[in-house]
Amino acid sequence: MGGMRKNTLVPVLLLLGALSLTAACSPVRGTPPAGSADTGASPSAPSDVVRTVDPTKIQGLDIVNDSGNDPSCPWTTSYPAVPGAESMTAVMKGEVERRLHAYVDNGCGAGNELDLNIGFDFLVASGDVVGVRLTTQDPGAAGDGTETRTYWYDGEDAQRREALDLIAEASRPDFVATVRAQLEGRAGIDPATLGNAFSGPQARRAVLDDMSFTREGALRIDFDRSTVGVPPGGRYQVILPGATVAPWLSGFGERVQEQAVSPSGRLDLGAPAPTATPSAAAAPTPEASAPGADTTDCSKVRCIALTFDDGPAVPETATLLEYLAEYEARATFFVVGQNAAAHPEALRAEAAAGHEIGNHSWNHPDLTQLTAAEVASQLQRTSAAIKAATGEEPTLFRPPYGAIDDAVRSATDLSPVLWDVDPEDWRYRDSARVAQTVIAQAGPNEVILLHDIHPTSVAAVPEILRTLSAQGYHFVTVSHLRATL
Ligand code: ZN
Repeated sequence: MGGMRKNTLVPVLLLLGALSLTAACSPVRGTPPAGSADTGASPSAPSDVVRTVDPTKIQGLDIVNDSGNDPSCPWTTSYPAVPGAESMTAVMKGEVERRLHAYVDNGCGAGNELDLNIGFDFLVASGDVVGVRLTTQDPGAAGDGTETRTYWYDGEDAQRREALDLIAEASRPDFVATVRAQLEGRAGIDPATLGNAFSGPQARRAVLDDMSFTREGALRIDFDRSTVGVPPGGRYQVILPGATVAPWLSGFGERVQEQAVSPSGRLDLGAPAPTATPSAAAAPTPEASAPGADTTDCSKVRCIALTFDDGPAVPETATLLEYLAEYEARATFFVVGQNAAAHPEALRAEAAAGHEIGNHSWNHPDLTQLTAAEVASQLQRTSAAIKAATGEEPTLFRPPYGAIDDAVRSATDLSPVLWDVDPEDWRYRDSARVAQTVIAQAGPNEVILLHDIHPTSVAAVPEILRTLSAQGYHFVTVSHLRATL
């Protein structure tokens, strides 16, 4: 939650003194996804914790990342592409594009330089079912800017599903009546808004678009701000015990509930196994770029620190590692935690080849818009994912968008790294242009900003390495550059 939004919420909380915290508590900006939040539920209340899904168990998983790094219009989007669930992926893609266009059309956060961020969590991905929640932080949207929606896929029928499809059609009237009864009378619930929200089948599908099962099998329903209550009431949540919802579940809902409680550990959507992608797991680890300790003395020779942000990406990162190895070049990878968790083998390949791995936050928010605790959480989760993959904690971080202030600096022990040369490779998806800009602007001991999620950026690297090597440059990690200057 940004400072602005927090400030608007505080007086409201005072105003609604009796407001139940469970009902009002918004997933704040930068909050770790549900699966990791093992605290917060009071002992008497039913837990709202959804079991964490290990993304490395999803064969052929691709995470579709994109971002715009223009400081006046910063945005980041990511969603998963699960092989076999293409129709679900297509709907997520459409939603991401719709929200991005709306953000840009509305002046990119109404000129406040607030970033749009769309991230995801897996709710379930085993057996023959997949569930994903997209969380959108949109400063230009109505309400507090946090909106969530869940997306579902049923491998048995090879169909994408919506949240309400977890409930059998014949049971929906009973289900809806029970959910309404749970909301009625809560502080901030507005009878007219509530009535409209459930007024017909279409309205119900729209308002009941975020449903998930907790690890105990209870059904958790989350409502965006303003959809059932007055805007200051924030987000609302209803949790129905497993025994209550059991008679209402569809066949699909029963299978989702089963996997949410006891995941089979394996996802089989009935699609042909994905053809072997050149992921680092399957591909041979590239030769170490320069085996052993790097003895380059940057006080005597010209050094360059190439840095690659936002990955790892499959297959782009593995391709990049081959290019770097050809020139015995070392680089620094500022990885995004949600990608690192999905592709730890790519981090292992980076580390094994002598490159440095730095922290680029969990899901790429503007850290200056977060509380100190949220900044710490963004960075700690990512450092933990890096350590889990490579055995080593990073010492460097790069703030998304380069956005940093004293509050961010003091929220972490990691050392911030910005850059000297930015070819804006996220804007110009043109390898020749990216290579020429880097070559023209690079100087001794400078840090170059690139993104290994873009194939065009990776394709620019051989030309950069060839030309700058010929000019006598040595390619070192950021920590090596700093240590030998
Ligand atoms: Zn970035």
